[in-house]
Amino acid sequence: MSAVPELAEYVETLSLVDHHVHGPFRESIGRVRFENALNEGSTDPLPGFVSGFESQLGFAVRRWCAPLLDLDPHTSPDQYWTRRAELGEPEVNRRFLAAAGVDHWVIDSGFGSADVLSLDELRAVTGGAVHELVRLETLAADLLAESAHGYPDRFRVALSDARDRGAVGAKSILAYRTGFDLDYARPADVEVQRAAEARTGAATPLGDPTLIVFGLFAAVDAGLPLQIHVGLGDRDLDLHRVNPMLLLPFLRAPEVGVPVLLLHCYPYEREAGYLAQAFGNVHLDVGLAVNYLGAAARALVARSYELAPFAKVLYSSDAWGPAELHYLGARLWRNAVSSVVGEWVDRDEWSLADARGVIAASASGNARRVYGLDPTT
Ligand SMILES: [Zn+2]
Repeated sequence: MSAVPELAEYVETLSLVDHHVHGPFRESIGRVRFENALNEGSTDPLPGFVSGFESQLGFAVRRWCAPLLDLDPHTSPDQYWTRRAELGEPEVNRRFLAAAGVDHWVIDSGFGSADVLSLDELRAVTGGAVHELVRLETLAADLLAESAHGYPDRFRVALSDARDRGAVGAKSILAYRTGFDLDYARPADVEVQRAAEARTGAATPLGDPTLIVFGLFAAVDAGLPLQIHVGLGDRDLDLHRVNPMLLLPFLRAPEVGVPVLLLHCYPYEREAGYLAQAFGNVHLDVGLAVNYLGAAARALVARSYELAPFAKVLYSSDAWGPAELHYLGARLWRNAVSSVVGEWVDRDEWSLADARGVIAASASGNARRVYGLDPTT
């Protein structure tokens, strides 16, 4: 008898830690924006002949999300949209967030925060524990919008204040700002101050390598686990410059001892797995891409268990916007992991007990260890 159904049943009993995720939409959105939100690579309007529903993610929404809106699986896009609009965002959020089975949400609120629920609003909707992450480039931009005066110290104080009020980690989007092919020598405060002053009044996103590398080391010095966006994102980033192998000089810096979490990673999940094996502090997830790969996500989840030690593989959805993504991240990951690992058990390469242990570690145990989350909350 196959182990897959038994593991599928087991994985349903596990609460997840979603270790990298954003808020769901606060208010109802139009269909065009919804379909656009099912497309990660471009923020431009979709061409007329393309529907957000006609993709792996769109099919997964119709298959797995429709029943939560009281519709049949594989319902038509029009029926789906009509029902979703009828329910409205608060009810849609309530249903999908509850069904995700997540008891800890680690939230990056540094992007598009006006459109999505705040940490407190999210606490009220989910009843789960909600933890803050500090987005380094957003913090830098906020401080510089005030003034460049005493910038290095102000940045360090702001980070330690965030840590003291309960932020569990920091996140960098240098992938979007500079790419990874940088000089990772730690900049002296005088250079950082000069770069900060050069930016005073700039309206463009923070893209100065000195300020970005300073931010990474400040997070390391503050002892915060450091999330780094890797791979897939919208075309604002240069995908060929965000291969995590380009982070080697940073990872080799002796002072970089905090957990480093490589996020998403697709299509560089194999490089990320290698780095997780090569560096004791490097971890990875394949969030975001699991949603976009839909029915093809099993192969991706299998690749997340190649070179990486199993204590280094974490679950995340990286959902932002439609609450379908918060739910689907969990649904598709549960589907994929039970099927992938179950096949290894069926071939007697893994024991059932080992399979359960690995699934539980990725579902929550590894993230609890990395972020120091209280196992009883
Ligand atoms: Zn994200």
